[in-house]
Amino acid sequence: MSLPLSKTICLIHPARPASARCPSCGTFYCAECITEHEGRLTCARCLAAEQAPPVEKPSRVKIRLPIMPAIQFLAGLITLWFIYHAFAQILLSIPVDLHDGTIWK
Ligand SMILES: [Zn+2]
Ligand SMILES: [Zn+2]
Repeated sequence: MSLPLSKTICLIHPARPASARCPSCGTFYCAECITEHEGRLTCARCLAAEQAPPVEKPSRVKIRLPIMPAIQFLAGLITLWFIYHAFAQILLSIPVDLHDGTIWK
């Protein structure tokens, strides 16, 4: 972002000018809202997100994940079936005489 730090305000406190920018989410915060954690600056939201155990996310992913590959697999199967079917129709349209060697005489 090209905005100078002096012209930005804190996301939580709009009346206060921002004094730091969270390197994780890129949001501007005042000195009170930004904290130092394990030697680097971070905002309260990012700190909470980092420390919160990811309980809900994996379960959501677990439900979603098997559905998409199944749909993709079925779509691929249907596509392949149409290709093979079209190819079979082309093969069937070839006259039997072609194999006798009499058609190009
Ligand atoms: Zn942040
Ligand atoms: Zn603030």
